[in-house]
Amino acid sequence: MKLLLVEDEPRMAEALRELLRQEGYDVDCFFRGDDGLDALCSGQYDGVILDVMLPGLSGVEVAARSRQRGVRTPILMLTAKGELDDKVLGLDAGADDYLTKPFQPRELLARVRALCRRGKPVVEDRLCAGDLALDARALTLYCTATGQSVHLSEKECRVLEYLLSNRKQLLSKEQLAVKIWGYDNDAEYNKVEVYISFVRKKLAFVGSRVEIKAVRGAGYELRWECE
Ligand code: CA
Repeated sequence: MKLLLVEDEPRMAEALRELLRQEGYDVDCFFRGDDGLDALCSGQYDGVILDVMLPGLSGVEVAARSRQRGVRTPILMLTAKGELDDKVLGLDAGADDYLTKPFQPRELLARVRALCRRGKPVVEDRLCAGDLALDARALTLYCTATGQSVHLSEKECRVLEYLLSNRKQLLSKEQLAVKIWGYDNDAEYNKVEVYISFVRKKLAFVGSRVEIKAVRGAGYELRWECE
């Protein structure tokens, strides 16, 4: 886990960095808000700990500008006691959580753990088979064996979701057509074929060993070798 820490008080920054490193996080530290924003926009971090009062740009500005630029890295904002407006502003600006100074190290670590979880697809939301994991909400397909992922279109995702939900079961084109398009006619069967071929390409792209087998005249099923 790689964290970005933006904090201008040297002693605070050093103490936080040390604490996080002891917990196994890889930490980069910046003292100015503008430098922190540049680092954040590089997209290489799993989470950000962002002080509000900073030289260059305030933490609230850093959060707001990064969100405007499409950066979705989870942000934990640090505010001084009584800076209630900053908390509200920070959350409005796109921070995910805040912590009021002074805080216990334990508290910070708990928040950071929660923050990093937020950035990852939640395991319970995934449908898995063999080396495949589908996050239907994020329209993303992962291969746990290769570490590769790929974005799916809405329909590709629904096709795969249906196959994964009924794995090891033969699904007819009719079943897929009704489930995904809501109709059962020849035109929809052609779409099923087209989308099955799209999904196969995505499976190949991520390097998965799971295959969609066509069973002549009967339909499709997922197959993979058991480990
Ligand atoms: Ca500060």
